[in-house]
Amino acid sequence: MRQPLNESLEKKPQVCRSCPRGCPVDRSRGEIGFCRVGAGLPTAHRGLHFGEEPPLSGSRGSGTIFFAGCNLRCVFCQNYQISQEFQPQPPKHPAIRNLSPEELAREMLRLQDIGAHNINLVSPSHLIFALAEAIEKAKKIGLVIPVVYNSNGYDSVAALRRIRGLVDIYLPDLKCLDNALGRRFSGVDDYAEIVPAVLSEMLAQVGHLQINPDGVATRGLLVRHLVLPGSLDNSKACLELLAAISPEIYVSIMAQYSPQYKAHALPPLNRPLRAVEYEAIVDYALDLGLENAYIQELESQQHYLPDFARESPFTM
Ligand code: SF4
Repeated sequence: MRQPLNESLEKKPQVCRSCPRGCPVDRSRGEIGFCRVGAGLPTAHRGLHFGEEPPLSGSRGSGTIFFAGCNLRCVFCQNYQISQEFQPQPPKHPAIRNLSPEELAREMLRLQDIGAHNINLVSPSHLIFALAEAIEKAKKIGLVIPVVYNSNGYDSVAALRRIRGLVDIYLPDLKCLDNALGRRFSGVDDYAEIVPAVLSEMLAQVGHLQINPDGVATRGLLVRHLVLPGSLDNSKACLELLAAISPEIYVSIMAQYSPQYKAHALPPLNRPLRAVEYEAIVDYALDLGLENAYIQELESQQHYLPDFARESPFTM
């Protein structure tokens, strides 16, 4: 059947392709989707951070740049002040600065100049294309340290392919492989379908984590899994996926959960992780042959909590 003339002339609806949600918005015109970020790069904190895994923090710190907004709605988010409570017009939080790609590139150079081992982009998924532009500009003006893509794992594989070559270290979360948990705890319907292909794409781009003789990561994939109280079956499924991808994969098994934001009202998230739960998951990882694993002390639960109302959000 012949296509009606007016159909071919109709303007196609704009869809954001930065992340798997595919919101029907034109962000270049400032329209806002699920992540609440239109045009620009809203940064909430830029500085050296010593609380990452040892090969990322090294001795001089990781050059973290925290971005506002998020494409998930985790009820336990420890960065909720900037990820969930972010309001774009006008930005509610005084620490948030909206940067252009050129300004962000200069900020990366500043962090390199003060000794950062890497540039650590925290929550980049919803800003992936503007960040790619900033990274390209930074490399042209002298950025040589590795770029770390520190995401929640809910990324677009097609978008990751478009930025291939710009990221040196992928640091994604593997939150869950149970969509009921994803819906309840993170406001996402299809995380379990999306994240396996994301991890495979990241591994294909950068390979396993490489660490230099000084103990500092230079390239590769390091997957983070936060063990949640009362969700051990999910943790086991996540570790099984990683072992199936490759027993050599580097994984950070995180014990730092404590109830934050809306989690106080949501059992079993309303209590800290117990030592017996964490130890069971570490043992399970070892049983699966995952020997490239970073583990944490349970006492770390309070150490990592930021307060973005302070000029220096991290107390360590
Ligand atoms: S990046 Fe934001 S606007 Fe774009 S699809 Fe994802 S949530 Fe929607």
